[in-house]
Amino acid sequence: MTPGVRLIVLGKQGSGKGTQCVRLSHHYSVPHISTGDMLRAHVEHKTPLGLQAQEIMDAGRLLPDEIVMDMVSERLQERNVSSRGFILDGFPRSIGQAELLEARLLPLTIDLAIELDVPRAMVLERIAGRRTCKDCGKIYSLATPPVVQWICDTCGGNVEQRSDDTPEAVTKRLDVYEESTMPLMEFYKHRGLLESIDAVGTEAQVMERIVSAIEARRSEA
Ligand code: AMP
Repeated sequence: MTPGVRLIVLGKQGSGKGTQCVRLSHHYSVPHISTGDMLRAHVEHKTPLGLQAQEIMDAGRLLPDEIVMDMVSERLQERNVSSRGFILDGFPRSIGQAELLEARLLPLTIDLAIELDVPRAMVLERIAGRRTCKDCGKIYSLATPPVVQWICDTCGGNVEQRSDDTPEAVTKRLDVYEESTMPLMEFYKHRGLLESIDAVGTEAQVMERIVSAIEARRSEA
């Protein structure tokens, strides 16, 4: 079996991050931990966290660092996920979260932070056509719909446009990404843990670039 991996995947909304994280999670047999998907499940089930999160998410803003860290921490505790590995998608999203994660993982560290690099104009176009399964988070588009009328091929859930994929919220989320998340590139670069990947291309091409970068790092270690 391919050995596990502790990976952070960074990238603008619409960079293909969610799709690549699903592939990576299968490839390395480690869980895909998406804070966006976890928060959407809380909203769907109207939990206290979901009720608090809905308005912030619809406005395209970030939830407080500690709240998100607690949610991720709980997930990392399950079946020793920290040591075997994980693909973190959408977390950390600020320097504060990166510092909390670093402390939480000690004495372990992450193997690599992957940045998926896509121009802003391209992600705006992709998000406009993006449709997402409400139950499992699988991503479709107007050009690649499910086989049966907006019913998820994988789980049978309803496939819809996310309430925060409106043009206003997307613009806000991209601004928040530039302000809060871009500084993470320096944070991980400084630690020698950043790998930037050109994420323009087919899903398979981008996946191959990511896996090559991970394997190149492993052979150096
Ligand atoms: P995503 O699906 O990753 O784009 O996340 C959707 C929304 O969930 C974001 O716009 C935020 O409002 C919230 N969210 C997801 N992950 C985080 C995080 N790490 N920190 C704060 N808020 C988050």
